[in-house]
Amino acid sequence: MYERFWRLRGDKTTIIIPGWQSMSYLSDTSNICWFLEAEFAKEVVRLHKVVGNAVTEGRHIVVGTGSSQLILAALYALSSPDAHEPISVVSAAPYYSSYPSMADYQKSGLYKWAGDAESFDKEGPYIELVTSPNNPDGFRRRSMVNRSQGLLIHDLAYYWPQYTPISSPSDHDLTLFTVSKSTGHAGMRIGWALVKDKEVAKKMTKFIELNTIGVSKDSQLRAAKVLKAVSDSCEQENSKNEESFFKYSYKLMAQRWKQLREVVEAGELFTLPQFSPAFCTFFGQEMDPQPAFMWLKCEGDIEDCESFLRGHKVLTRSGKHFGASPKYVRISMLDTDETFIQLIDRLLAIQERE
Ligand code: PMP
Repeated sequence: MYERFWRLRGDKTTIIIPGWQSMSYLSDTSNICWFLEAEFAKEVVRLHKVVGNAVTEGRHIVVGTGSSQLILAALYALSSPDAHEPISVVSAAPYYSSYPSMADYQKSGLYKWAGDAESFDKEGPYIELVTSPNNPDGFRRRSMVNRSQGLLIHDLAYYWPQYTPISSPSDHDLTLFTVSKSTGHAGMRIGWALVKDKEVAKKMTKFIELNTIGVSKDSQLRAAKVLKAVSDSCEQENSKNEESFFKYSYKLMAQRWKQLREVVEAGELFTLPQFSPAFCTFFGQEMDPQPAFMWLKCEGDIEDCESFLRGHKVLTRSGKHFGASPKYVRISMLDTDETFIQLIDRLLAIQERE
């Protein structure tokens, strides 16, 4: 979706890595995360400062092969090998559909998926995944289990100005971000965790050591260059009269959401969540949330929205994977222009036919 922006930037994000460079497993052995590239860490701190979406002071940065690896590292780090039973892992429905399988795929003795955080009432410690704004429905979230023994993982993959108004810098114990959604570079496989507790950061690092002995230096160096270009674009916006990455991506999302709402409102078949505007400290004005996914509901007597849409050549992910009703489906708003236009055309054709 953001390819055009990066094409227009030309060589600003090109890197050349000679064969003799970055050959070792190690980056900085004095750092808890000994495979973290200093240049990447510097650009992470700078970008959060420029955007104002996270406190980085007093945090250890742990880099991961995408935030996916960091979710697993965090589950490992927050659970205890001495516990007499696996710690429960919960998230409020509708939750990111990968969480249940990530928690249970290896049948770990350390942690276990325990479903919807809102109905969770088991005594004792638990891990809650808080996704804000949420995948799939786009709403802002806080922890839902109202108890003190919770260990929280804040998955803030979408806490960037093109998707949601930035209200204040996030300031949690363990927060995850990823380039996949911030800059669009999902294939780079780079995510980062901001971790308050030193022991948790150490355990996360250990998990990644056992899993992949670190994270590709090539990718970290490329990510550093891309994050630098984003921060530069924000800082130079006024002086060079160029559009910042976030202004560009916000406008693109706004255009897509406008088109989508128009086609959904043209008939009675579908509904979308309604969001209230809020003040965004990054843009300095009230902005509308415009999530990375549409959480579409089939109204009336269509019970299985996924099958209904598949019958009209639109492939979606059913609400049932997110702990919700099959009357809902999730569709990405971040595909290429071509695919998005086709999607809008097909939704319009369904509205006209039904
Ligand atoms: N968390 C959430 C909420 C996501 O939506 C995604 C990607 N769909 C991820 C984590 C994983 O992203 P990645 O591994 O590409 O960083």
